[in-house]
Amino acid sequence: MKSSKGTWGLRFIIHALTVALGVLVYWLLGFMLSDIASIEGPDYTTIEAKYVEPSLYEKRDDLDQRIADLDRDLTSAREQQGIVSASSQNLQSTINQLLEFKRLSFEKQVPQAEADSDTIATSQARFLENQTKFQELNQRIAELAAQRDALEREKTDLSRTIDDKLEPAQEEYQRLYDAHRIRLATYQLVLLIPVLLVAAYLLARRRGSAYYPLFLALGGGTLLRVVLVIHEYFPARYFKYIVTIALLIVVVRLLIYVIRLITHPKPEALLKQYREAYERFLCPVCEYPIRTGPRKWLYWTRRTVHKVLPPSGVGEVEETYTCPACGTALFDACGGCGKVRHTKLPHCEHCGAETDPVKTSAPVTGSNA
Ligand SMILES: [Zn+2]
Ligand SMILES: [Zn+2]
Repeated sequence: MKSSKGTWGLRFIIHALTVALGVLVYWLLGFMLSDIASIEGPDYTTIEAKYVEPSLYEKRDDLDQRIADLDRDLTSAREQQGIVSASSQNLQSTINQLLEFKRLSFEKQVPQAEADSDTIATSQARFLENQTKFQELNQRIAELAAQRDALEREKTDLSRTIDDKLEPAQEEYQRLYDAHRIRLATYQLVLLIPVLLVAAYLLARRRGSAYYPLFLALGGGTLLRVVLVIHEYFPARYFKYIVTIALLIVVVRLLIYVIRLITHPKPEALLKQYREAYERFLCPVCEYPIRTGPRKWLYWTRRTVHKVLPPSGVGEVEETYTCPACGTALFDACGGCGKVRHTKLPHCEHCGAETDPVKTSAPVTGSNA
């Protein structure tokens, strides 16, 4: 009745191959998904060009250029001013020295050379010239700075204009990009969901199949991919809900499955339950102790049954027995040999006659009469 499970080695190989198959399914789907993901999205440059005229950027570049030129002019004017200033100081000290000499020679009543007076005069002339130049440079620097400020202001205004125009461009790009991502996710799920559904169908319908590991590998690999796609494309907020709801469904299904195992047990499970109950001298249906033969006056439960030893050699005569709690006939006359047998086990221990204890799971009535 029970299908062969194979040796330990074979079962191990099947498990290993199942895992390998699952990984391969996962990889194969991954390649397909990355091909889908390589579809090109919206181009930001094109969208930007729609909102911001290129001439605005050209204008801004031009302004930058002009400001840079003015900066250079300003630097050079300041350098010139520095040179003029140094030269003026130099002349000043020369003139002071010459004047000092003149004073000394006057005090010592030494006649002064004509040349010296000339030198003082030229120096003074050059000094004044320098001062004029210095003033001119000052003026030029002020003019350049004013021009630069004006350009800078113009550039700020222009930048503000560009930013204002960029805003809708960025919004449109974001909108198109979001739509593109949703399209990618849809394509990917369109590929994955049918595979997942087929795997789920096979897993649900072919539960007893020998090829179950194949379906398990297919389902496992695909499910992992689906979870990853959802995680990648949908915000964590939605992802949380999707995963939780999926888990909820799985847990509820499992719970229903286990509950059904108890309320609508499979024949094998039921038989196992009967076998274990008889082993412990408990009614297979209601677990009330089977107080027959030497165990008549004893008390035990499922846990303590092996510690309670019945007195030996007393009342070993086999007799029919019906559970006093639920009325199920537990030991009854065999239809084959007439001796007392377990009614809830498939075979008579004396003659081997077979019955189906599961079909007669309802309390047997009238069989003793
Ligand atoms: Zn019972
Ligand atoms: Zn029999």
